[in-house]
Amino acid sequence: MENCIFCKIANKEIPGKIVYEDDLCLAFLDLSQTTNGHTLVVPKTHYQNILDVDKEVLSHLIKVTKKLTNQIITNLDAKGANVLTNANEVAGQTVMHFHIHIIPRYNETDQIKIDFTDRSQEVDLDNIFNIVNILFYCLFTLQDMLASL
Ligand code: AMP
Ligand code: ZN
Repeated sequence: MENCIFCKIANKEIPGKIVYEDDLCLAFLDLSQTTNGHTLVVPKTHYQNILDVDKEVLSHLIKVTKKLTNQIITNLDAKGANVLTNANEVAGQTVMHFHIHIIPRYNETDQIKIDFTDRSQEVDLDNIFNIVNILFYCLFTLQDMLASL
């Protein structure tokens, strides 16, 4: 896709520190280096994000991500990694070409902050569950309606 920075790296139109490449994907160092070894795994074909990526391509990328994450942890003597992907601007996606972040972790004071706020006391978990499982929700509603007849 025109004007896509990751397509340009994949097509070798602009340089990238490529650490892995095959027919379907490549992996290169993220410029920001949130922690040392921060790497992006990217399909060669342009997809916006995980919401539209082809499932065979995704499956391949996940396998490559697993292999690279282990390799990066070993080579850099990291203690673990955060593996994540952002979908759409609201989730912090800034480059609209699907990519998976591998962020090696060395200790709790690494320069990355992922904070899962505990909202369990504020929300109605059953209600959320019903909405997520909309088919079940419809079924329960139908059952309630039938019961009230
Ligand atoms: P996201 O916010 O999930 O879309 O992540 C995009 C990432 O791409 C950021 O971490 C950027 O640092 C990184 N990035 C942007 N341009 C380049 C580039 N030319 N080479 C390597 N990484 C890049
Ligand atoms: Zn692209």
